Amino acid sequence: MNTQVFRAIDGLKLPAEHRALLRPGESERGSHGNVHHLPRFFYEIASWQEARETRLAPHFKLAELMTVDCREAELLLCEFPHYVPCAIVLLARFLEDFRREVDAPVFVSANGGYRSPAHQIGAKSIHAWGTAADIYRVDDTFLDDIKSIEKYAAIAVSLSPAVLVRPFGSGAGEADDHLHLDLGFLTLTPRQCSETS
Ligand SMILES: [Zn+2]
Repeated sequence: MNTQVFRAIDGLKLPAEHRALLRPGESERGSHGNVHHLPRFFYEIASWQEARETRLAPHFKLAELMTVDCREAELLLCEFPHYVPCAIVLLARFLEDFRREVDAPVFVSANGGYRSPAHQIGAKSIHAWGTAADIYRVDDTFLDDIKSIEKYAAIAVSLSPAVLVRPFGSGAGEADDHLHLDLGFLTLTPRQCSETS
């Protein structure tokens, strides 16, 4: 991985229109009433080409973890630079561990990696921290039934006590056409950035 291409920035110094969408460092009350601070520090991504060329881990490129569709806020979808929370490098590291354990290619869905707090399906979602992935396929197996989802969920949780997977189902907090896994509300402060406000 070539981290030199990344420029880490303090979200509080972004232009107002970006701050309004990304809400860096703002507190967010989750569906269970717990309050968490949204990511403040981001990597600045200059182009899709850069995202496709940047490996965060041997088998995961940045582009795979930041693909969104038109449900993302238009400014964040259509204009570069794009901003992704710095903790996304830790998600990639975990996915690499998962891939090694299952010994097969792992596919993350569109809207299934980082999506901003302004994304239409991003409200109060841990995906806004860049620490969650929705895996829809492992090797040739599509994760769309209880058997396949529970199989790979068990492997994911065996790798770290920090990992949470959503149970199979169609209710709130459940998933039936992918495996959702996340590392919690993790944020990363690059060493060159200051946390003074
Ligand atoms: Zn998810």
